[in-house]
Amino acid sequence: MPSEQFHVRVSKDYLVFCSGHFITYDADKCECLHGHNYRASVELRAPLDHNYYVFDFIALKKIARALTDELDHKMLLPSGNPLISVVTEGRKMTVNYKDREWQFPVEDCLVLPIANTTAELLARYLAQRTLRELEEKHHFRPETLAVEVEESFGQAATYTWAR
Ligand SMILES: [Zn+2]
Repeated sequence: MPSEQFHVRVSKDYLVFCSGHFITYDADKCECLHGHNYRASVELRAPLDHNYYVFDFIALKKIARALTDELDHKMLLPSGNPLISVVTEGRKMTVNYKDREWQFPVEDCLVLPIANTTAELLARYLAQRTLRELEEKHHFRPETLAVEVEESFGQAATYTWAR
């Protein structure tokens, strides 16, 4: 018996976010602060519905755009990195790694519940937020959901969730 699968994917030009970050690696190394023009895409797999859709493109684009807009023009910081401390004091955010210290206006930062702001973990974060939006707003649970985060041309990480 042949089998069939349907996917939909959105990777529009506006699913970009221009953000600052730095990551820690090899336990005792830390990148210099820098930024990327990230681009995200979201792909869903599910059976066709009564409209012969996997999922409404317009609704999926709206979710993906709202989530990427939240990250745009922000300094992305991890709350779950044992090597990086992030402390908010009034309108000032102080970030420390060993003897290095950065200070940012609070409104320029977004602290994410992840261990490191790698493209991989950003993709997982966006996928989990997308799944929540799909469930809460559309009572929809795909069979699989994949988010790709490209941090520069030809350099991307993908996270795939499966039911
Ligand atoms: Zn980077």
